[in-house]
Amino acid sequence: TKLQIGLLFGGCSGEHEVSIVSARAINAALNAERNTDKYEILPFYIQKNGVWQGNEIANQILVSGQALEKPNATNINTKSSLWEFPPQASEVDVWFPVLHGPNGEDGTIQGLLTLMQVPFVGSGVLGSAVGMDKIAMKTAFAQAGLPQVKYMTLTRSQIWSNPCVFPKLCDEIENYLNYPCFVKPANLGSSVGIAKVRSRQELETALDNAASYDRRVIVEAGVVAREVECAVLGNDNPKVSAIGEISFESDFYDYETKYTQGKADLSIPAALPDTISNQIREMAIKAFATVDASGLARVDFFYVESTGEVLINEINTFPGFTDTSMYPRLWGYSGIPFPELVDKLIELALERHKTPE
Ligand code: ATP
Ligand code: MG
Ligand code: MG
Ligand code: MG
Repeated sequence: TKLQIGLLFGGCSGEHEVSIVSARAINAALNAERNTDKYEILPFYIQKNGVWQGNEIANQILVSGQALEKPNATNINTKSSLWEFPPQASEVDVWFPVLHGPNGEDGTIQGLLTLMQVPFVGSGVLGSAVGMDKIAMKTAFAQAGLPQVKYMTLTRSQIWSNPCVFPKLCDEIENYLNYPCFVKPANLGSSVGIAKVRSRQELETALDNAASYDRRVIVEAGVVAREVECAVLGNDNPKVSAIGEISFESDFYDYETKYTQGKADLSIPAALPDTISNQIREMAIKAFATVDASGLARVDFFYVESTGEVLINEINTFPGFTDTSMYPRLWGYSGIPFPELVDKLIELALERHKTPE
């Protein structure tokens, strides 16, 4: 009998649309010839308002590739704001949460699936939560001795505090980090809510904007560096891929550059000295273990060529997974084609879920 795979996508996140594209690619790979005898796919779509839709609507979204613009509100329980699960959810043997960003990549869905006691692909609650929150992540990386840029953290209430406090905060940021610096919501991805700022006025606007996305905000010193990424696959003894490099003309690797065809170039493998590649791979494995990731992660770095320094930027516990995304392409180059990769991830989910006899 075939294993029933619950393909979970969409989600209450600024990365909803990206999730749909990733889910289409993963769905196709799970239906590839080498996998058809093994898996049956049960798709579930999480609307932007959090309501789950079962196979019929989810399949329509997979076919059209378009988000449901007028989310269906019928099965919201208004008292608890909890939703009802589509009945097919009880048939799932392994969940494949293809969700990026908050309410999906951050441990919330992982907590739900853990309570259901059904295996799922990717990191658990801790790995997802620490990986997603840039403040928790950087604290853990610092403790592990992983080099990174200087940064400061703020809360929404500090940013939106009375007008006497705010200018002092901005002074501190200017003094400690200088311009340009990067303002980011702590919990997001795809560069949503991120700004590169070069003046006091841009700083103020960017802080206000980042605070509208998240209660926690981080500001980082800007570096001039090459951007390189590598892919990790496994549980306790993970494998690490070749290294890829991203190049683009825009000011930084923002949402538009990430998702407009032709705006960014990926080169695999990145042209790097062996010592640097090896250092990056070692750092990636360390980062993976430090946040307690499992299954998969993409680890992003800055390579400051002038000094030979490698700084870790971040870990993504559910990286972009479209046909043209860095994560599957890195594994394609390193000898694992896309359909084999999704199969491997399901195996890793089952392995992680196994309790000792
Ligand atoms: P992802 O889609 O990979 O999850 P994200 O939303 O988590 O991205 P970051 O990777 O932190 O965001 O930053 C997005 C981009 O902004 C980087 O790829 C880089 O181009 C630029 N950037 C971020 N921080 C810095 C920095 N400190 N110095 C220079 N550039 C930076
Ligand atoms: Mg990220
Ligand atoms: Mg991300
Ligand atoms: Mg990134």
